[in-house]
Amino acid sequence: GTRGRTIIVTNRLPVTANRKGVGQWEYNPSSGGLASALSGNSLSCYYCFVDVMCCDCEAFPIVRPFFLNCDATAITDTDIVWVGWPGASIPDKADREIVTTALAEMTYRPVFLDQELMDQYYSGFCNNILWPLFHYIGLPQDCRFKKSMDFKSQRQAYQTANQMFADVVCKIHKEGDTIWCHDYHLMLLPMLLKKSGIPMKVGWFLHTPFPSPEVYRTLPNRVQLLEALMEADLVGFQTYDHARHFVSACTGLLEFDSCPQGIECGERIVRVDAFPIGIDAGRFGRALELHEVQEKITEFKNLFSGRNVILGVDRLDMIKGFIQKVLAFEKFLEQNNGRIGKVVLLQIAVPTRSDVPEYRKLASQVHELVARVNGRFGTLKTTPILHLDQTLDFHTLCALYAVTDVALITSLRDGMNLVSYEYIACQESNKGVLILSEFAGAAQSLRTGAIIVNPWDIDEVAGAIELALNIPAVEREKRHKHNYEIVTTHTAQDWAQKFLRELNDTAIKAPIRS
Ligand code: UDP
Repeated sequence: GTRGRTIIVTNRLPVTANRKGVGQWEYNPSSGGLASALSGNSLSCYYCFVDVMCCDCEAFPIVRPFFLNCDATAITDTDIVWVGWPGASIPDKADREIVTTALAEMTYRPVFLDQELMDQYYSGFCNNILWPLFHYIGLPQDCRFKKSMDFKSQRQAYQTANQMFADVVCKIHKEGDTIWCHDYHLMLLPMLLKKSGIPMKVGWFLHTPFPSPEVYRTLPNRVQLLEALMEADLVGFQTYDHARHFVSACTGLLEFDSCPQGIECGERIVRVDAFPIGIDAGRFGRALELHEVQEKITEFKNLFSGRNVILGVDRLDMIKGFIQKVLAFEKFLEQNNGRIGKVVLLQIAVPTRSDVPEYRKLASQVHELVARVNGRFGTLKTTPILHLDQTLDFHTLCALYAVTDVALITSLRDGMNLVSYEYIACQESNKGVLILSEFAGAAQSLRTGAIIVNPWDIDEVAGAIELALNIPAVEREKRHKHNYEIVTTHTAQDWAQKFLRELNDTAIKAPIRS
């Protein structure tokens, strides 16, 4: 048709290429540290194949939103091409050709970044500099730009990598295509794409928070990144706060004025808006109906019978507030001795970035604290905290979401936090209570139904746990109903459609306005 394709660009493709022998490659759904999360998913059809569960903030399940739904309309009027790193360093030319051909059949286009570049660009600039900065972790003087040589080479690698993504996009671009760039890995991409001279509509969406300008401006190449984003037609964030931070950073650091639509950039307007992501709630609802999941639910009910279960599901990342969570639970037990032995904190700590020393350090700190609480409040029969450094398969996760009484989310910063949405999607019969950090993007949408807490206030969180366990059934239902309505109506599909619709409008309207 006349309508162009959508080219999605993310750091990582939804599948990872794995070498099986000379010239032999296998393709598995990617999931960062979550390789086995997918074992429960059937890979039976082309569309399911990329129905990826991933939480490493690298290959978001962006696919699900608009074209990967086996039951519903598959690819309808939009064609999608996906550009990203194939999850492995593939130096050999013949191998590259094999992988390229195989991926093309899945509408994927690989960007071949070698190991050294990945170390510098991805582990270095993305995960060591941008991720902590955007989540207010550490102070610049503590860690980030200290080794200026490292910073320089990582910044250079970031540019090189972004250029490689741009080259692939330009090579496959056809007239009418819309480009949707994702996340902090690719902030230079809008500029690099426009510099090619090929006319194209370009949008960029940030899955993480965008920090206060006072924090953002510590970044040595702060202007370069913002200027590059000013070449996009639409810039999207999870919440209005993040969008507002971005606009203030632009007006403060660049010579531009803000306007109701976003930023006036000479002749053009760069549209800036909030597009809160959601989940495919139906997928969870359907999973709960499966015999296998029902069996697990029964099993867990027996296992935990007589005890209330508080559930935590987080990647083991500093942003998730593990320490604060355990301290609050300890405080709760201290203040509610009668609950000892009758309540358990079940914490799934999904392994992530364990090659980074800071992450390993966090793991030991958490383990030590958990052991302390268990030593202090454990009995011969019960352990108050069940902490698992593990990835769960989708069906087990759904069953746990369904049987637990409370979900406890203490993120110190979080772009959105999908776990809170998923928990609610699975609580239609149980009507459990969600305790949610005000620093998660999800707190914006779920604030009426959830118990919102400041995770730094240990007493407040301990009080929230007590409240959640004592809440009368009527109120629990009311709160759940509120949340459920939001989770089921603000889906990932809506999110993607809204962003793309806006992007397509913007590119047409913007020049007329100026
Ligand atoms: N998740 C997973 N495997 C697990 C536990 C969780 O894949 O063992 C998924 C979970 O279902 C959710 C995602 O990981 O979709 C976590 O996303 P969230 O936005 O909560 O946090 P992020 O990890 O992206 O910071």
